[in-house]
Amino acid sequence: MGKATGFMEIERKSVPYRPPQERLGDYQEILTPPAEAHLKQQGSRCMDCGVPFCQSATGCPVYNLIPEWNDLVYRGRWHDALDRLHRTNNFPEFTGRVCPAPCEGACVLGITTPAVTIKNIENAIIDRGFAEGWVVPRPPPRRTGKTVAIIGSGPAGLAAAQQLNKPGHLVTVYERSDRIGGLLMYGIPNMKLGKDVVQRRISQLEAEGVRFVTKADVGRNVDPVQLRREHDAIVFCTGATQPRDLPIPGRQLGGVYVAMDFLTANTRTLLEADSAKGGLISAKDKDVIVIGGGDTGTDCIGTSLRHGCRSLVNFELLPRPPDQRAPDNPWPEWPRIFRVDYGHEEAKVKFGQDPRTYCILSKEFVDDGHGRVSGIKSVKVAWERDASGRWNMREEAGSEKFWPAQLVLLSMGFLGPERYATDPLGIAYDPRSNYQAEYGRFATSVPGVFAAGDCRRGQSLVVWAINEGRAAARECDRYLMGMSDLP
Ligand SMILES: Cc1cc2nc3c(=O)[nH]c(=O)nc-3n(C[C@H](O)[C@H](O)[C@H](O)COP(=O)(O)OP(=O)(O)OC[C@H]3O[C@@H](n4cnc5c(N)ncnc54)[C@H](O)[C@@H]3O)c2cc1C
Ligand code: SF4
Repeated sequence: MGKATGFMEIERKSVPYRPPQERLGDYQEILTPPAEAHLKQQGSRCMDCGVPFCQSATGCPVYNLIPEWNDLVYRGRWHDALDRLHRTNNFPEFTGRVCPAPCEGACVLGITTPAVTIKNIENAIIDRGFAEGWVVPRPPPRRTGKTVAIIGSGPAGLAAAQQLNKPGHLVTVYERSDRIGGLLMYGIPNMKLGKDVVQRRISQLEAEGVRFVTKADVGRNVDPVQLRREHDAIVFCTGATQPRDLPIPGRQLGGVYVAMDFLTANTRTLLEADSAKGGLISAKDKDVIVIGGGDTGTDCIGTSLRHGCRSLVNFELLPRPPDQRAPDNPWPEWPRIFRVDYGHEEAKVKFGQDPRTYCILSKEFVDDGHGRVSGIKSVKVAWERDASGRWNMREEAGSEKFWPAQLVLLSMGFLGPERYATDPLGIAYDPRSNYQAEYGRFATSVPGVFAAGDCRRGQSLVVWAINEGRAAARECDRYLMGMSDLP
């Protein structure tokens, strides 16, 4: 424990984002680089609890050794802190930037005072590691002669690839997109996670001997059955890529897009040397409605604002969450409270109010007479509990409203993985339509075929994808070698 009285003397102070007015003018990362003194102070607030809930299952899904590296940062032992961090997390620069930080929701200090800024400290350790040149490729000393195919290159696939490469298996990652990274590359926008940050990790994996094949769409231009024959094992990390749609009248109109089409085109436009090839779906000078919240909704808001939209509204079907934890949501659970994310803050600065409107149900997309959307008809809904305690939605009579919009972005979550890559192998699915593979074993119904990340657990978080990629690698290694030393 760094400073015994740190938690009593020092207030929580997060690393600030760049001012909204400034960051709205570009796609650079919103996070500012923190001063070392700031991080040491914040690290010293950690109480080194006897039972650190932050690094338990209710807290950090990869079991980061949080009190240990808080203490090391306080003492200025950054290299040691980095070693500790890499023991549990292959990619702290991703989680340090985008993780919602369930660890902070479970921080014991959080029972009475604001939690330790764990995520900021994690990010600072890894950024320092890269800046100092401490993060170097570590190829395995020898090869086992076993080969593994990983399908999908998101955080689950990358974590599995790096872990399986360590004992010396020859790993090839097949990715249908033109770039490696999954939602880290096309999904989470540049301002939250710079693509140079993603690329430098991919380069490290390449230097360690992991092979990457892009535009390899398994089940379409790559035969999964042949792939299984050619490799000793396969790990599916194909994500939850089927968006939930909104099949109301007018869905076919021009100007109504699923969020991922909008976000992918935006990132591609920024990355292509010839930006015209990115296929940008522009929000410039348009009234934009984003339907649905979460990270995807916020990213649609932040991106539309950067395009220069004329107005922006975010529909939420559910009621506004409470400002404080509800009685049925106690510590150390993830606090289900009202949060202001970067996009909401930016919208407020630009338009004078938070873009979210609650308890709104979209009824119809209205045609402008030329096959394009001109707005949405909605009603207000009320949520009521029935005798059995179940929530029911009721439309409020007379609450119909028309909202103008020339661009509508659907951000209502994802239904699960696509099946064209797994059907030819005869893989079983669970009742939620994910690939069936028990957590902890990660083995599908087909011997030698494993599954990890969103394709197995359903739409989730980067940190859970890393957790599953690592654990599936261990199970795959055990399958190949009869035992495994992987964590
Ligand atoms: C817009 C958006 C913002 C998000 N923001 C956050 C955030 O801020 N914080 C957070 O923690 N989480 C966030 N998430 C969730 C997070 O990105 C995912 O939980 C995580 O990326 C899942 O990782 P994965 O490796 O399982 O799958 P993915 O990242 O989805 O990667 C799957 C990969 O498999 C490839 N693939 C699919 N089928 C095939 C095939 N047949 N052949 C070859 N390749 C294939 C896909 O092209 C893709 O690259 C966000 C999600 C979205 C959509
Ligand atoms: S990975 Fe997420 S939960 Fe774990 S320490 Fe980092 S921010 Fe917290």
